[in-house]
Amino acid sequence: MNNTNEMLLEIQSLSRNEGFARMVIAGFVAQLDPTIEEIADIKTAVSEAVTNAIIHGYNSGDGKIQIYCRIIGRDVFIEVRDTGEGIENIEKAMEPLYTTRPELERSGMGFAFMEAFMDELSVDSKLGEGTTIKMQKRIH
Ligand code: ATP
Ligand code: MG
Repeated sequence: MNNTNEMLLEIQSLSRNEGFARMVIAGFVAQLDPTIEEIADIKTAVSEAVTNAIIHGYNSGDGKIQIYCRIIGRDVFIEVRDTGEGIENIEKAMEPLYTTRPELERSGMGFAFMEAFMDELSVDSKLGEGTTIKMQKRIH
């Protein structure tokens, strides 16, 4: 039985590509016939992860971001990867309201939203090497 499907998108690290990435993932996940709310949750989570890669990973400079999505049955797995600065303290970074960029009017809620809107969230990161965000959500 073939109930898996996958895609990989690579974008340049530009804030105008964030909406594009979000739409691509929403379009791919549409094959599971999600509710409006489920699709909105996924779009928000992808948006937060891609924005983080652009702003924090590459400090708004040049770089590539990969967005990988795999569907297995009714489970959606999404990875957002950058090869930017990396995160020094992952545990701290994931705390609600924690931001290293208060001067950019960041509120430190990105990870909290990803956690709230997806079923699973994990963060792999190494200073100087980059960050991979892995998220999972079941479509009912
Ligand atoms: P908000 O998302 O509310 O605008 P924020 O981006 O600072 O604010 P989070 O998305 O929760 O908040 O991220 C928390 C912190 O984790 C960031 O301030 C940054 O220091 C670090 N971080 C997150 N993603 C990355 C990344 N891809 N590369 C490097 N650092 C990151
Ligand atoms: Mg953020």
